[in-house]
Amino acid sequence: MRTSIALFTRDLRVHDNPVLHAASTADRCVPLFVLDDAIVSSSFFNANRAAFLTDCLADLDAALRDRGGRLVVRRGKLADEVAKVVRELDVTEVHVAADVSRYARRREEALRELGADLHVHDASINAVPPLSLTPSGGGDHFAIFTPYFRKWETVQRRGVLRAPAKLTVPDLAGDLPKRLHRGTTSPDLAEGGETAGRKLMTSWVRSGVDDYAEVHDALADDATSRLSPHLHFGTVSVTELLDRVGTGSEGARAYTRQLAWRDFHHQVLAAKPDSATKDYRTRDDRWRRSDRDFEAWRDGRTGYPIVDAAMRQLAREGWMHNRARLIAASFLSKTLYLDWRRGAQHFMDLLVDCDLANNQMNWQWVAGTGTDTRPNRVHNPLAQAARYDADGAYVKRYVPELADVDPKHVHEPWKLSEDERDALDYPPPIVDLSEAADRFAAARGLRRHR
Ligand code: FAD
Repeated sequence: MRTSIALFTRDLRVHDNPVLHAASTADRCVPLFVLDDAIVSSSFFNANRAAFLTDCLADLDAALRDRGGRLVVRRGKLADEVAKVVRELDVTEVHVAADVSRYARRREEALRELGADLHVHDASINAVPPLSLTPSGGGDHFAIFTPYFRKWETVQRRGVLRAPAKLTVPDLAGDLPKRLHRGTTSPDLAEGGETAGRKLMTSWVRSGVDDYAEVHDALADDATSRLSPHLHFGTVSVTELLDRVGTGSEGARAYTRQLAWRDFHHQVLAAKPDSATKDYRTRDDRWRRSDRDFEAWRDGRTGYPIVDAAMRQLAREGWMHNRARLIAASFLSKTLYLDWRRGAQHFMDLLVDCDLANNQMNWQWVAGTGTDTRPNRVHNPLAQAARYDADGAYVKRYVPELADVDPKHVHEPWKLSEDERDALDYPPPIVDLSEAADRFAAARGLRRHR
């Protein structure tokens, strides 16, 4: 008799799930999720992600019950917990999704030792498996996005898989946790789970994606998919999403390109696991250390409304618009010239979609220590505000102190009269942009053009 384990990691769905699809062909199948001590005790497991994960597990359990099964949840050291189930039920095969971090690779090695056949499924978390594409000039990964994307586009993706109709799950201990929350969650945190993810995907494909190319950078329009937490936890499959989005409109093509960025960063981390903490390309930075500046940035009190709105969106929703992430990260790493790792850690503490590859490699991209081909560009917050939040609607939404300020001054409240400023309870700028640009240019050994 074949007995399998479908070991869920960040593929918490029943639709288009290669792991579950393959494991469910056995006579008996254990859909298993292990609350891994190594993750649960790490700073990566923030309150927002814990809450989102609670929703995901409950929703996955319900979907499995609809198919005659259930989700078995264990807690402890992942390989030990899987080993126990292997022994208890004489499991013949274990199925798991391929993943890229150093931790995920160690997990895979440990699972190989358990005596059951291990099947590692590619193209479950990624559309194109990391490290399956290599540059023609040599090297084990692409360091520049555009040539990567050119190849990525030509890959024949696997077909979308149906959810299993029926499952036979043996009796086994391991109940759903009621609540994984730790600490306080963001008040406007999105709902987790495959049901919520599929609903969002459907409405995005129907009425969002076609306009994406034009509007994705407009901060106040909130016209991006907001699917990142679902892609991170795998409650939406990237393969199915790409399939449904298609390439029929300019918006669909622009959106597809963004999804390729996700794979791109994953293949960088797969090739260079150290880049989660070390500069991918060092610029010999000797970062400033200023707790005062860091705290002002973290708390959304820099005196630059566009930066402060971004940071407060993060606190309020556990999520931030991509353009806002670029502005906030550039402000920390270039304008304040503080170590990108401090900023990345704060994002990690709050982001519900926080993904080691995408967070760290995007931070490095912005800081100029990563894969950006223009490593010294600085996103000037005033120019960005004028371009992407011209009427100040985004700032007004997240910085209530400025809600009644004339749109003409909302990005530069220091231009208000002294009396008006005094009435605001909003701080003056913590740094002069021109001096900051000089400081950054000097630190990187550049000549500044005025
Ligand atoms: P959409 O605009 O709808 O894009 C669709 C999907 O494409 C996203 O869900 C995401 O999976 C992918 N994507 C889009 N832009 C990028 C990008 N630059 N890099 C990689 N994938 C991308 N994304 C994360 O998923 N997790 C993170 O931890 C993360 N940290 C970031 C930190 C910084 C400093 C920056 C600049 C960007 C970061 N991003 C991260 C990328 C991007 O900001 C988010 O993916 C995006 O804002 C999520 O919103 P959305 O789903 O509405 O995106």
